[in-house]
Amino acid sequence: MALIVQKFGGTSVGSIERIEQVAEKVKKFREAGHDLVVVLSAMSGETNRLIDLARQISDQPEPRELDVVVSTGEQVTIGLLAMALIKRGIPAVSYTGNQVRILTDDAYNKARILQIDDQRLREDLKAGRVVVVAGFQGVDQNGNITTLGRGGSDTTGVALAAALKADECQIYTDVDGVYTTDPRVVAQAQRLDKITFEEMLEMASLGSKVLQIRAVEFAGKYNVPLRVLHSFQEGPGTLITIDEEETMEQPIISGIAFNRDEAKLTIRGVPDTPGVAFKILGPISAANIEVDMIVQNVSHDNTTDFTFTVHRNDYQKALGVLQATATEIGAREVVGDTKIAKVSIVGVGMRSHAGVASRMFEALAKESINIQMISTSEIKVSVVIEEKYLELAVRALHTAFDLDAAARQGE
Ligand code: ASP
Ligand code: MG
Repeated sequence: MALIVQKFGGTSVGSIERIEQVAEKVKKFREAGHDLVVVLSAMSGETNRLIDLARQISDQPEPRELDVVVSTGEQVTIGLLAMALIKRGIPAVSYTGNQVRILTDDAYNKARILQIDDQRLREDLKAGRVVVVAGFQGVDQNGNITTLGRGGSDTTGVALAAALKADECQIYTDVDGVYTTDPRVVAQAQRLDKITFEEMLEMASLGSKVLQIRAVEFAGKYNVPLRVLHSFQEGPGTLITIDEEETMEQPIISGIAFNRDEAKLTIRGVPDTPGVAFKILGPISAANIEVDMIVQNVSHDNTTDFTFTVHRNDYQKALGVLQATATEIGAREVVGDTKIAKVSIVGVGMRSHAGVASRMFEALAKESINIQMISTSEIKVSVVIEEKYLELAVRALHTAFDLDAAARQGE
C-alpha cells in the first residue's frame, strides 16, 4: 500500500464523461489499497476562457483579480470529481489551495509555493478518504488567492507529493510519456522510458510542453519519483528519475527541445566599460523580466553589442526599458526581433562525448540554416534561428543524432 499523488491535466477532466473515467481510474487504485491525493487542472480551454473574459474588461487585468478569476476553473473540476467518487462509494473530499493552505508568496499570476500544511490531508487519508485538491492555486499570507503560472497544477502535484513524502507522483496527461521531441514535428519521435530530472528540466524549460518546469525542479530537489502517463491508455509512461546510469549505450542526446516563445533584443554601440552588462540587465530584471540567452560581442572601437532574449510576452516592456537604458548610457541603437526560435539538444551523455556542438552545427549548415545565437551548458546546446526554419532544424537534428531509431525503447 502506497501513498500516491495523481495529477490529471485539463484534457483528462475536459468533460463530464472524462471526469467519470478519471473517477474509475482513481477507484481502481483506491481498491488496490493505495492512499490517494488527486490534483486536478481546470477543464481544457477553461483557463484560457477565463483569461479571455478578464481581457474583455481590461488589456492588462489587475493581477490580483485575475487570480481570483482564473483560479475558479480548478474549483469546478475538484468538486465534480469528488462527487463522481462519492457516487461510486469512494469517500472523497475536495479542497481549494486556500482550504489546504498551500501557502505561496504574493507574486500574483506566478506565485511560488512556500509551504504546505499537510495536516488536514493526513487526517482525511487516515479516515480513508480520497483527497481531491485544486491545482495551480494557493493563498498568500494575507489570504489572497494566488496562482502558480500556466501549467501550475503539475507543480501543485509534485509539491504535495514532496510535502506528504508520497511514494510516487503520477502526472496523467494526453500523451503517453516524454518524447525525444514533439511528435507533431517529427513523426519518428520516440517515447523515452526514462529521463533524468536534469534533462527533463532542460526539455521542459525549452518548451517541451509535457510538464511545467517548476514541477520538475521541485521533484528533483525533493527526489520525488515522477511518472508521466497517458490518462486513458495503459502503458509504462516515462519515469523521471535521479539515477543517471552512465552506460556505454547511452545515447549522447536524449531529446531536442524547441521554443517559439522568445524574442531577441540587441543594444548596439554600447560604451564598453566595467559594469555595462549590469547597467543593461539591471533595469530589465528590476522590471521583473526574465532573461534567457545573453551574448556580448567582443568589443570594437571601445563599444560592444549586447544581445539577449526574453519571453515574447515581455518583449514590448523590455524594448521600452532597453530604449531608456540606451539613452542613459549613450548606446547607438536598440533593435529587436520576435520572429526567432530556439532549438536545443539535450543529453547527459554530452558530458562524456566531444564534438556534440559541431555535429549540431554541421546538421544545421547542411540545411543552410543560419545560427544567430549560441549558448551551451554541460548537458545542452541551444541555438537561436529564424522562426520559419524551426521545424526543418528539429527534423534535421533528430536524424543527425540518431533519435529516429528506437534508440532508448525497451532498454
Ligand atoms: N489550468 C491551469 C492552466 O491551464 C493550470 C494547469 O492546467 O496546470 O494553465
Ligand atoms: Mg496543464
